[in-house]
Amino acid sequence: MDPKEEIKVLEDSLAAITAKAKEFGLDFYDMFFEICPADILYTFGAYGMPTRFSHWSFGKAYHKMKTQYDYNLSRIYEMVINSDPCYAFLLEGNSIIQNKLVMAHVLGHCDFFKNNAYFKTTSRKMVESMAAAAERIREYEFKYGREKVESFIDAAIAIQEHIEPRVLIRKKAKAGPLQGKKEGCHRDVAPSPYDDLWSLEKDQQCQKDCSDKEKIFPPEPEKDLMLFIEQNSKDLDYWQRDIISVLRQEMLFFWPQMETKIMNEGWASYWHLRIMRELDLDESETIEFAKMHSGIIQTSRTRINPYTVGLKIFENIEKRWDNPTPEEKEKYGRPGGQGKEKIFEVRAGENDVSFLRNYLTKELVEQLDLYLYKKIGNEWKIVEQEWETVRDGIVTSLTNCGFPYITVQNADYNKRGDLYLKHSFEGIELDVYYVEKTIPHLYTLWRRPIHLETILDNKRIIFSYDGEKNCKKFL
Ligand SMILES: [Zn+2]
Repeated sequence: MDPKEEIKVLEDSLAAITAKAKEFGLDFYDMFFEICPADILYTFGAYGMPTRFSHWSFGKAYHKMKTQYDYNLSRIYEMVINSDPCYAFLLEGNSIIQNKLVMAHVLGHCDFFKNNAYFKTTSRKMVESMAAAAERIREYEFKYGREKVESFIDAAIAIQEHIEPRVLIRKKAKAGPLQGKKEGCHRDVAPSPYDDLWSLEKDQQCQKDCSDKEKIFPPEPEKDLMLFIEQNSKDLDYWQRDIISVLRQEMLFFWPQMETKIMNEGWASYWHLRIMRELDLDESETIEFAKMHSGIIQTSRTRINPYTVGLKIFENIEKRWDNPTPEEKEKYGRPGGQGKEKIFEVRAGENDVSFLRNYLTKELVEQLDLYLYKKIGNEWKIVEQEWETVRDGIVTSLTNCGFPYITVQNADYNKRGDLYLKHSFEGIELDVYYVEKTIPHLYTLWRRPIHLETILDNKRIIFSYDGEKNCKKFL
């Protein structure tokens, strides 16, 4: 097909697909599609965004993705950006039917971005903000030297997942710790013209409070390591704080996508199926579509396929709310016929953790053949198949997007400004090799010794780095 004709066919298909999606009740921002060659699309995929700053790690991700593509091992079926208007990219060389599927699929994503609660606070202008940040970082490289800037970015990237994504909750909790040294001590509160009127009474109370316990900062454990360092590390230059802030903002932007991966892909797959079934496909297109769809939902023995698991859960919810069992009717007062309504409600209010906890049933665990496994000796073995344990195990692995939960406990440990961190141990040990590679990066950001407490072999242990060497001691 000549390119002009192809564009015309795609435009007509997009109009039909968009009309169908709206008829089904999907609610999305205006959509713009662009056709890109593979190397450009893979660059976007590796960077996460077309306008992001450059860093060697993105090149590494690109190389891996592109190699898999060249060897036909894996394909990005889609690239869609959570922005208003929403941008999506189609792979040059895709067949018409592949592109139709991608269009229908990304409309589902865009509806999800717009309506899921966890995306409510994401910036929809991130394309522009990332472009502006990339420009500033280029200027820093010019001014301070590329190597210096790059190694600082390496350090910040090493801890970039340690943020607190619940922005609204954190504002309230934050007001105290970041302004003052100790909660409850009025000396730390900013002065006002009326202080004298009640200072005597407060002074007495304050002396008592202050002597009750040692002043520790932060007064409450702080999960947002990135923000804490950005605001409290003493010897950083302006450009370094800016880089931490940029990476944190970008992580806040990507976080909702990470914590709803299964739901979001399930939702998009649910809708590409429904929409494609409504289009007038001829026989060969129907076969090609069926092949593609089964490729997408192919299961693996060692990895959860978010497309399949998400899709099956949504279909199961729809079925159970459309045709409840007599028990469900009586016990939950479910009248039936509410399948559609229910799946829209679920897509608006849940994330992967609550989605799986609430809607992954015994029937689904069996049907999807889900199990827990681990390495015993040199072999991977299935260790659990009981459905509730499997469900809980998967939920645990998704909590905090699968990253260890680490908090700042004390920013003046040993009374010399050392940073003391604690890992909330929930049964999974930290990777010692990773710890010993990461804490020197933290030292680069904090400029003073770093200590990290965790549990290893059922014993409390502290890993430390003093600027020269790693050491560890059991408590
Ligand atoms: Zn998708």
